[in-house]
Amino acid sequence: MSVLSMTKTLFKNLFHGPYTVLYPIKEKEKFDRTRGKIEISIDDCIFCSMCQRRCPTGAITVEKAKATWSIEPFSCIQCGYCTEVCPKKCLHMNNQYTAPSNEKTRNEFVKCMNTQSPSE
Ligand code: SF4
Ligand code: SF4
Repeated sequence: MSVLSMTKTLFKNLFHGPYTVLYPIKEKEKFDRTRGKIEISIDDCIFCSMCQRRCPTGAITVEKAKATWSIEPFSCIQCGYCTEVCPKKCLHMNNQYTAPSNEKTRNEFVKCMNTQSPSE
């Protein structure tokens, strides 16, 4: 590298702002095809556990008896496979990032089962 080229690079870096973004204070710009966090339309879920079986990181837990579906957002690698295999198409990727946390969280969704007889 010549001295001239090195000096050019040096000055460019001296007066350029930081290349990084102060996340989460300043949110990073999202692109159209950003793969965000997984969300569920719980009312459409039939608790078949297909998403749980196919998730490569074990981020999803389905409990049919309790009618619950849960996800560990920090275990999810945003591969989108669960959205493809769900037979009810009730999983989708939201174009948002999971908020940072210093704890491993689990988000649980419960389907409200109405077992009341409509005869009254
Ligand atoms: S694959 Fe779809 S319908 Fe089956 S448990 Fe998962 S979210 Fe529910
Ligand atoms: S996007 Fe991939 S890693 Fe995340 S929950 Fe779905 S299958 Fe698992």
